[in-house]
Amino acid sequence: MSREFTMAAQHMSPEEFRRHGKQVIDWIADYLASVESYPVMSQVKPGDIRAALPAAAPEDGEGFEAVMADLERVILPGITHWQHPAFLAYFPANASGPAILGDLISSGLGVQGMLWVTSPACTELETMVVDWLAGLLGLPPHFRTDGRGGGVIQDSASSACLVALLAALHRAGGGRVTREGIDRPYTIYVSSQTHSSLERAARIAGLGASGVRVVDVDPRTLAMDPAHLDALLSEDPHPAMVCATVGTTSTTAVDPVPAIGEVCRRHGVWLHVDAAYAGVAAVCPELRWLNAGVTEYADSYSTNPHKWLLTNFDCTVLWLADRGPLLEALSSMPEFLRNAATAAGSVVDYRDWQIPLGRRFRALKLWAVIRWYGAEGLRAHIRSCVALAGEFASWVAADPGFEVHEPHPLGLVCLRPRWEGREPEEADAATLALMERLNASGDLYLTHTKAGGRVLLRLAVGSPATERRHLEQVWERIRTEAAALTPRSSRSAASRTE
Ligand SMILES: *Cc1c(COP(=O)(O)O)cnc(C)c1O
Repeated sequence: MSREFTMAAQHMSPEEFRRHGKQVIDWIADYLASVESYPVMSQVKPGDIRAALPAAAPEDGEGFEAVMADLERVILPGITHWQHPAFLAYFPANASGPAILGDLISSGLGVQGMLWVTSPACTELETMVVDWLAGLLGLPPHFRTDGRGGGVIQDSASSACLVALLAALHRAGGGRVTREGIDRPYTIYVSSQTHSSLERAARIAGLGASGVRVVDVDPRTLAMDPAHLDALLSEDPHPAMVCATVGTTSTTAVDPVPAIGEVCRRHGVWLHVDAAYAGVAAVCPELRWLNAGVTEYADSYSTNPHKWLLTNFDCTVLWLADRGPLLEALSSMPEFLRNAATAAGSVVDYRDWQIPLGRRFRALKLWAVIRWYGAEGLRAHIRSCVALAGEFASWVAADPGFEVHEPHPLGLVCLRPRWEGREPEEADAATLALMERLNASGDLYLTHTKAGGRVLLRLAVGSPATERRHLEQVWERIRTEAAALTPRSSRSAASRTE
């Protein structure tokens, strides 16, 4: 339905905004209240959504009701429900009421916070909230902005590691890289378990994939081997950065940061610690062991409140022990940005801490989350996920037909049916077929990984909506579907050996 226009542009009036805004809030509240009733994983085929939408933009404006109607009719079927209690795939991207509202206020203000002067509160609230978070997680005081270091909100962990790499390159090259470009074959060190964003960061920064050196891991724990790192660094004249991971994406393996840090210090190499998923769990004192070595050795450290800390995507926090190399690597001052506050050196300009110039006011949602939950509320959320994941793992471990990958210290459990009597390749294919069946059912959503050469199902507990009963149902489904994929002959063979 098109609207009659009497003016050149028909802006939404404050009264119209109020009316539609209330409808939208009601819609989101209803959605979250009923999210459990949808199939977790979208069941559409490639092109379905596009085909249901008009090929060209409307010539005349339409009422907002038309948008809401298409949201129900076209968009929702193409949504995979990340806030569903049985969404157990990847890592969570959990959301919460205060985060949604904080983000909405940020949209309402429409601030572009590239410089302090473009909205002082955008910068100063961010500085305060990342300092708060450093305190909540037990990170060292030198990460605070009133020391040599500082924290900054980035869009993603991928950006955080790229920015850390640029600072590391600046330091490794004694400032030359900023002036002359990549003048030497600089390298970065990762393990086979490091997130793929590190390799991409090396490619983006101009080191090439050949500048990425892969350090061995312990075959059981999948944690990086510091002795092998030491040996590789001894042969390398131009190492720029080592990335240690606390909570790998595949299995939440934890690299030995104290030992890796000691090696980095001896070789004078920048240590970045990627704790994208696991870092926020250090809000719980009993999980502070996750921070081992960070205070002593990390040059940079990042974690994602947008994964497990109830803050809507996107919100990654990157901290630096010394912000100098980062600012030297990234700052610029074109004429159109000159202003008195920056010139006086009395303010933080976060555009010098990131790749883009412009930036959203993301601190509002993190601030809203921390104030709404308080430290105790955040701890309760993490603890409940860890406890549920532990319980789930115990059910799997008690079933002789299944195997659990150990250790599983946080919210992620990796498992596989044993598929007695099958060759490894055949068994892996069966595990993948099982996953396809489970996901196609719409009742749950899992992803997979490969560890120790075998395919494992990954089940990541992280949604605030997930309760014990959901996991009980999920476990029942996994057992039933696995049994359906087991030929009768081997089923009786398996039961004979029990
Ligand atoms: C998820 C993850 C990333 C990437 O996070 P984005 O914020 O999506 O870029 C990086 N490292 C680890 C260990 C992760 O688990």
